Amino acid sequence: MSLPRIVVLGAGLGGTIAAYEIREASKGKAEVMVISDQENYWFVPSNPWVAVRWREPEAICVHLPPVMKRKGIDFTAVGAKRVHPKKNQVELNDGAFVDYDYLVIATGPKLAFDEIEGFGPEANTVSVCATDHAAAAADAFDRFCDNPGPIVVGAAQGASCYGPAYEFALILDTELKRRKLRDRVPMTFVTAEPYIGHLGLDGVGDTKSLLESELRNRHIKWITNARVTSFEAGMAHVEEVAEDGSVKAKHDLPFGYSMLLPAFRGVDAVFGIEGLTNPRGFIIADKHQRNPTFANIYSLGVCVAIPPVGPTPVPVGVPKTGFMIESMVTAIAQNLKLELAGQPPKHEATWNAVCLADFGDGGVAFVAQPQIPPRNLNWSSSGKWVHLAKIGFEKYFLRKVRKGESEPFYEKLAMHALGIKKLRF
Ligand code: FAD
Repeated sequence: MSLPRIVVLGAGLGGTIAAYEIREASKGKAEVMVISDQENYWFVPSNPWVAVRWREPEAICVHLPPVMKRKGIDFTAVGAKRVHPKKNQVELNDGAFVDYDYLVIATGPKLAFDEIEGFGPEANTVSVCATDHAAAAADAFDRFCDNPGPIVVGAAQGASCYGPAYEFALILDTELKRRKLRDRVPMTFVTAEPYIGHLGLDGVGDTKSLLESELRNRHIKWITNARVTSFEAGMAHVEEVAEDGSVKAKHDLPFGYSMLLPAFRGVDAVFGIEGLTNPRGFIIADKHQRNPTFANIYSLGVCVAIPPVGPTPVPVGVPKTGFMIESMVTAIAQNLKLELAGQPPKHEATWNAVCLADFGDGGVAFVAQPQIPPRNLNWSSSGKWVHLAKIGFEKYFLRKVRKGESEPFYEKLAMHALGIKKLRF
């Protein structure tokens, strides 16, 4: 009799380690297969470094087929065209169909540049969301440095990823100082957040003061409650929205270089599947990371539907950071283990937000536990140690992906020492 098949869809930060942890938890009880749309894994958190040439793209890349083979995990890089949950099948881009008993969706975001006219790397702004975008952003930055001008950086309406926006603004500041060009570059931080340091989490610890003073000390002006109406070559058109939703001011911001994080949507392979996704294409999941309509489908990472922490004048999404994603991974692996033993799932991810925003010469770290206030742990701090910690995070995460390890010992040790756990139950 053949074993049940668990298919992991997507091999980014969440999908890759999910495959390793599920393999470990289901040994001898299930076969595991990964469907990716590329053979390589890229460490997305280091993309801002790629965009200023602090990292080469190859340094943050892992070629997955040999690792998956070594771990006994089937792997295809053909990519999924469509999930068919009523048939328990994934349709691949080459027309083949893969049957599954359990599906774990980890497809990350579709970048919604199309929601703002003239936005994105195909048009007038650069991006750090994908490593190839970041490599192109590095070329654009070199050209900009030959002929410096204003920079507009930040996160657009509906974005859910604010740490990298601050990180990139402050990395640009650091790199421009190193190139002795900072005095020729006026910088404006444009964000949908209602205040600096909100981060989609209504602030964490003192992120408001910490990030405001970072921006102030580095002469970066800001516009909050910002809604970008359009970009054209060298110009961003931005509305500043008041508490009641009316337009308080309009800004035309010239730029020689611009990067804003876009809003995210669910990817095409799942978008619009009734019962599976919400209107923006994010996967609906219960506290066990399981879809309420299709009980054999789990989801993790950026593709999961999480409501905003509260109303804001301009839409602001909730971030899904690395440790939060790892907590979803562990809950799913343990729940699948239970299901394979004929028991119902019981594990819940903690969804704790742990983030390191590095500026090259320092940084800000925060821990929000739980994600939505009031919290048991609400801590933020800044200093040079954050830069070193981020290098450590990159090094150890890439090692984990290269080795196929589900959770190295030191990581467990460090997180438990901080009192941060992945599972609630
Ligand atoms: P992804 O890593 O995006 O992976 C999704 C994968 O699914 C991709 O490989 C994609 O190719 C694949 N896929 C998509 N569609 C299909 C399909 N149809 N078929 C097959 N495969 C498909 N978090 C932190 O904790 N710390 C940080 O410092 C940090 N920095 C960040 C910096 C940036 C610029 C960004 C954008 C995010 C950052 N994050 C950070 C947030 C988060 O950790 C990352 O976005 C992380 O990569 C999300 O993991 P994921 O697995 O959900 O999605």
